[in-house]
Amino acid sequence: MRSQDHDRIYLSPPHLGRHELNYLHKAIEDNWVAPAGPNLTGFERDICEFTGAAHCVALTSGTAAIHLGLKLLGVGPGDEVLCPSFTFVATANPIVYLGASPVFIDSEAETWNLCPVRLREAIEDRIRRGQRPKALIIVHLYGMPCKLREILAIAAEFDIPLLEDAAEALGSRYDGQPLGTFGAVGVFSFNGNKILTTSGGGALVTNNADWDKKARFWATQAKDPAPYYQHSEIGYNYRLSNLLAGIGRGQMELLEDRVKRRREIYNWYQEHLNGLPGLSFGPTEPAGGRSNRWLTCVLLRPSETAVTPEQLRLHLETHNIESRPLWKPLHLQPLFAAAPMYGGAVCTNLFEQGLCLPSGTAMTDTDLKRVADAVKEMATASYN
Ligand SMILES: *Cc1c(COP(=O)(O)O)cnc(C)c1O
Repeated sequence: MRSQDHDRIYLSPPHLGRHELNYLHKAIEDNWVAPAGPNLTGFERDICEFTGAAHCVALTSGTAAIHLGLKLLGVGPGDEVLCPSFTFVATANPIVYLGASPVFIDSEAETWNLCPVRLREAIEDRIRRGQRPKALIIVHLYGMPCKLREILAIAAEFDIPLLEDAAEALGSRYDGQPLGTFGAVGVFSFNGNKILTTSGGGALVTNNADWDKKARFWATQAKDPAPYYQHSEIGYNYRLSNLLAGIGRGQMELLEDRVKRRREIYNWYQEHLNGLPGLSFGPTEPAGGRSNRWLTCVLLRPSETAVTPEQLRLHLETHNIESRPLWKPLHLQPLFAAAPMYGGAVCTNLFEQGLCLPSGTAMTDTDLKRVADAVKEMATASYN
C-alpha cells in the first residue's frame, strides 16, 4: 500500500498544477486522443519557446529521445561513444541498442559531471588505438550544468558531435541559455520523478530541420511516402500521445515556479543541516551555470563521520522518508564490466559517500523539517 501512503515523504513524486486537466478535457471532448493532435503540437511549441530550440519532437521517453538522437549523429554498429560513467543507465543503453559500445569517463569533483581533463585523455587514447569516437554524450546530473565551456572546446577541437542528455536539467541554464540547446541534439525526460512529468515521456530538440523530419519519421514506424504501408528503413513506435502531451502543456506553464521551489528546497536543507559533522552539499555550480537543483544531494565524509549513507537512508526509512543513493557509476555495473573507463576515483567516491534527500516541489516546510530532524537525530546519536 506504499503508493497510497500519504504520510510517506517520497523522493521526487509528480506535482501536478491546475491546467493539465483542461488540456486533457479538451482532447477528449474533441475526440482527439490519437493520432498526434493539437496538444502534441502545442507541447512541442512550448518546449521550443522555453529552450529557444528551433525544433522539438515529443517522444514516449527520454531513452527513446537518446536512441533517435544518437542515430541522427550517425552512431551505428562498431562505433564507440564517449559517455560519463556517473549517470543513469538510460544514458548509455541506447548506445548498445545501435550496436555501438560506450567508453566511460570519470567526473570532476565540482559539478560531478564529465571531467574535461579525462575527456581529452580518452579521446587521444581512442584515436591512438584507431577508434575515433563517433559521438560524445554529456549529462547534467541532478540538473547541474557540466563544465560546458571546456567540454564544447574539446568536442570542437576533435570535431566530435555532441548529444546533450538534459533529462534531469530542464530549466537549468548556462550563461543564461537553457540546457539542452548546447549539443547538436538535446534530450529531455518527462518521467514520473523528473522536475516536470507527463507520467512518462521525453523530447528531442535540435536546430537541424532535416533531423527534425528524420526523427519524426523514425518515431512513427518509418513509413515511406506511399498510399500503402511501405518501409525502406527500420522504424520505432516512439511518438508521445496527444493525451500525455496535454499533461505536458499544463506542466510547462509551471516550469519557472518548479525550478524556484527546487532551489529553495536545496537552500533550506543547506541552512538547516549546516554544521553537521562530515556532512556537505553538492554538486557546485560552475562559472556561468545555474542548476534547477532537481534533487538535493548530501555527502558524508568517512574521515569526519561514522555515519554511512546507507545507515542514514535506513534511518530515514524508519521515519517513513524515502531517500536514495547517488547513481551507481556505469563502469561498476555488471552490464558494462568490459567497457573502457578513463579515471574512476571521483565518481566511485561520490557513489560511496552520497545520498539524495526528498526534493519534491509539493513538499511543505513541515515536511522539510521532518526530514531535517530525522537527519540530525542520526548525526547526533552517533556522535554521543
Ligand atoms: C530519466 C533519465 C533518462 C531517461 O529518461 P526516461 O524518460 O526515463 O526514459 C536519461 N538520462 C538521465 C540522466 C535520466 O535521469
